[in-house]
Amino acid sequence: MASLKHRRTALERVEKFLSKIYFTDCNLWGRLFADRCAPVSLACFQTPRRIPYDEAIRQEFRPSKVGDSFGPTWETCWFKVELSIPSAWAGREVHFIWESDGEGMVWRDAQPVQGLTKEGEKTSYILTSSLKETEPHSLTLYVELACNGLFGAGKGSMIAPPDPDRRFTLSKAELVVFNRDVYELLVDLEILLDMAQLLGEENQRSFQALYAANQMVNMCDVTDPSTFPAARDLAAAIFSQRNGESQHTIHAVGHCHIDSAWLWPYEETIRKCARSWVTVVRLMECNPELTFACSQAQQFEWVRSWYPGLYTQIQDFVAKGQFIPVGGTWVEMDGNLPSGESMVRQFLQGQRFFQEQFGKICSEFWLPDTFGYSAQLPQLMRGCGIRRFLTQKLSWNLVNTFPHHTFFWEGIDGSRVLTHFPPGDSYGMQGRVEEMLKTVKNNKDKGRVNHSALLFGFGDGGGGPTQKMLDRMKRMNDIDGLPRVQISTPDQLFSVLEKESSRLCTWVGELFLELHNGTYTTQAQIKKGNRECERILHDVEVLSTLAVAQGGAFKYPASQLQRLWRLLLLNQFHDVLPGSCIQLVVEDALQYYAEIRRAGAQLQDEAVQSLCRELLQPKAGSTESTLVLNTLPWERTEVILRTGPAGTETLALVTVPSMGYAIVREPYVPPQPVAVRKQEDGSITMDNGVIAVCLDMMGRLTSLRLVGSKRESVPDGCYANQFALFDDVPLYWDAWDVMDYHLETRKPVTMLLKPLEITLAGGLRGSTRFSLQIGKGSTLTQEIILDATCPYLRFLTQVEWKEAHKFLKVEFPVQVRSTNATYEIQFGHLQRPTHWNTSWDWARFEVWAHKWLDLSEHGFGVALLNDCKYGASAHGNVLSLSLLRAPKSPDATADITHHQFTYAVMPHLGSFQDASVIQCAYNLNFPLHAVPVSSAQCLAWSAFSVSSPAVVLETVKQGGRQAQLSENRDSSGLHALLGEDKELSLPAWAGTCTRDHSSICIHVWVLQPQIISTALQQVRNACACRQSRSVAIAQVGLHPEVQNRMCLSYVSELPSALSPKG
Ligand SMILES: [Zn+2]
Repeated sequence: MASLKHRRTALERVEKFLSKIYFTDCNLWGRLFADRCAPVSLACFQTPRRIPYDEAIRQEFRPSKVGDSFGPTWETCWFKVELSIPSAWAGREVHFIWESDGEGMVWRDAQPVQGLTKEGEKTSYILTSSLKETEPHSLTLYVELACNGLFGAGKGSMIAPPDPDRRFTLSKAELVVFNRDVYELLVDLEILLDMAQLLGEENQRSFQALYAANQMVNMCDVTDPSTFPAARDLAAAIFSQRNGESQHTIHAVGHCHIDSAWLWPYEETIRKCARSWVTVVRLMECNPELTFACSQAQQFEWVRSWYPGLYTQIQDFVAKGQFIPVGGTWVEMDGNLPSGESMVRQFLQGQRFFQEQFGKICSEFWLPDTFGYSAQLPQLMRGCGIRRFLTQKLSWNLVNTFPHHTFFWEGIDGSRVLTHFPPGDSYGMQGRVEEMLKTVKNNKDKGRVNHSALLFGFGDGGGGPTQKMLDRMKRMNDIDGLPRVQISTPDQLFSVLEKESSRLCTWVGELFLELHNGTYTTQAQIKKGNRECERILHDVEVLSTLAVAQGGAFKYPASQLQRLWRLLLLNQFHDVLPGSCIQLVVEDALQYYAEIRRAGAQLQDEAVQSLCRELLQPKAGSTESTLVLNTLPWERTEVILRTGPAGTETLALVTVPSMGYAIVREPYVPPQPVAVRKQEDGSITMDNGVIAVCLDMMGRLTSLRLVGSKRESVPDGCYANQFALFDDVPLYWDAWDVMDYHLETRKPVTMLLKPLEITLAGGLRGSTRFSLQIGKGSTLTQEIILDATCPYLRFLTQVEWKEAHKFLKVEFPVQVRSTNATYEIQFGHLQRPTHWNTSWDWARFEVWAHKWLDLSEHGFGVALLNDCKYGASAHGNVLSLSLLRAPKSPDATADITHHQFTYAVMPHLGSFQDASVIQCAYNLNFPLHAVPVSSAQCLAWSAFSVSSPAVVLETVKQGGRQAQLSENRDSSGLHALLGEDKELSLPAWAGTCTRDHSSICIHVWVLQPQIISTALQQVRNACACRQSRSVAIAQVGLHPEVQNRMCLSYVSELPSALSPKG
């Protein structure tokens, strides 16, 4: 018979043959299931808590039925399901079908066995592939049903705040006979239909596939399975026609992106991991070729402690190389805001966990879904044994298309990592023909590499791969006209990319995401918690290490610190620290910060008590005084507030040596007292001999001068410290996005509530205060503080924030002209343009920085420092700090509360390096600690000093790999023990001068690498001469040829990262 002539009717005919909606009475899909049978009984009980299985099954279950609904949101419903398989089904494949809009977990014999989530296309638990008479026909299952969907329970839209009253319905619970032969034919036809539709009319293979599919429909009598094999043979004939040698190869890797918290709380994520991973384990049992890349040590740790049986099964599949831990980090963290040390700890905690649990560290960094990537990450990765990186988020760029999918990414120190973006621009593929074609077509590095990745499996809310995805790709292994598809591993992919890497391009600097720039500001309390807790843990580590070094009975609080670090690292997850999570998550996050603050304060107190115990003991004849501790590696002279015996607070000027302490000495005469004067026009001047300012009634700076240079920083007619309010209505992603057009809605805040008044008249400290009304219902009160000797002016700010869709910033127009501004990032800084020449420039209208940003021209500049803000911009000569936003989704209450934060402005001569802007920003963030003591007789004491201002001794802590270090120790002193990175000829070494088995690890970062060895020599000498119990110094990433870059060290804690192969 002649073939059909009408392409459209043929296509739609095949479509209808597979349709789940049309003609199911007579089409193939309608035959997928044969007989059905209801459970013998169904009973349930509901609980607001997420409880263990053992506790659940002891509860009283009440009769229930299909069609019942359960809720409200976040509750859990446990079902007891009694099943009896009809003996007439002998030899048949039997599934337990469960359909609900909540996420389910099937338990059998006290073990989790299958996740069932309709949204993730998982509604079947396979009881038997061929029912035998000897098998038990009656069984009891439990189903744990979470009253939330795969994406939480947003009211009206996915990212809307959760509906607290949502009900979840059980729509199906039954036993069915599954017709495997129908299923296989459906998958065949789907592939052929997709080829016919997607390859297009200009393509020969499109018609070959279409004719084959049409003929298969002709041949199939759906009521007679004996007609199926011949139809399948037709499909097989098409599938077995092979590609030529040059065809692109797609490496398909199973994956399941599980946000550690997002539209659901942390606690639910634990169950999401179990539901998703148990399903993967079931799939692996039937599909030995299935690979599954799984990131986030924290999630492994959750499953290890909550689902030990499942974890054992996972360990087996890890050993088989199928279940593949990837990423090397504790969680998939935000790529911008965590400090350098936090980033190091993400890797350190992660890699250590993978090493301990699975015997090896990860060789690739895996961060498919975060909102930009710091230019420091390549070096951090290399230092942690990682030289490969996978992500895809830059495909979300709103303005510019990133020009590569496979390339070398080079960080600020010159470290390079091989980077791959799966060209399908997704981490949740389904193994469809369409995705394979997109992967090949979209690939920006055609001709340079001929391999790419495809990550398949439901993600974000979990879910993971399905059998159908695998069955599609098995067929697509090598079909002429489609790219080759092989189930692969990240290692196989990167290994072949490495072989092809000679033609790859290099991208230098940050991977800036041109979207989601509101996440630098949203949920200010979380940002503040992060910055503060990073400081707290830094200080606890420094002080505890010094206490250990002093000898005595003090024990380094290693396990407490690990616990607190892990809480902090968890909150750095890429929907928590960015503020793009629901209110429940915010509450959890703030509680974790509270715990770090509480426990951190106690640990710090214990360390100080031990470190200064002689001074703290009351002695006869001694007088009350104040001991001041400095955890930063340079001497500081600052005004502090001290509390007297009666609770009275007084100011004092104190000089404290580097990483040490001193006693406040009387009298506290500053070289020049602060003078505060009210002028006739109501303005107020403040002057400390270093800087002089003039403030108008609204607290705005009309003048900011460096006294020594007479140079004015504020342009004529401009106001610095000008608040501005913007309309902030993005296109969709409310908490995430601030759009370019918000800049057009700028309104200066000028509604005065209380005019500027003097609150401290001068001496050691001068201060003034004023209040403004912002928008309709918010108020801002600011104290502007100038301390004796201090080179910057502080703005202590309180805001009662009650806005909706508004964005508050503070602006500092300055008399500086430069085409680039400098922003602090992790262990370094980078420049971004101050103009909007090209689309790449203006797409960065809102950027991020850590503790400071600076605009400098030759010999002069102005820096803006802050203690808990991240959003910033520098356009033209205006420096802006982003203060508060008010998005309504996914948390309707986001930021509607009281806020306190401090920023500071610092005019300076010379470069920002020469002017110690970096050090001043640290000082603002790491206040001196004042402790009342009873002894006035004490010499100032310093543990370490670093003579070069280019070196920042960032972290001093006890090494985590004590045994490893001490094994290599050399009693003569420091001893190089690590290898050399052959490829880049970087020295990598660590040393120890231990007398026992504990060690101290020092992370160092350097602005000018050539002086690193001198600096480290001094650090070393300092340790040695203090007879400290043990010290280890490690460093890596030193590029002698690169000026003005940094280096750091943590590798000594990851010994296996240090083999020459890295
Ligand atoms: Zn995510």
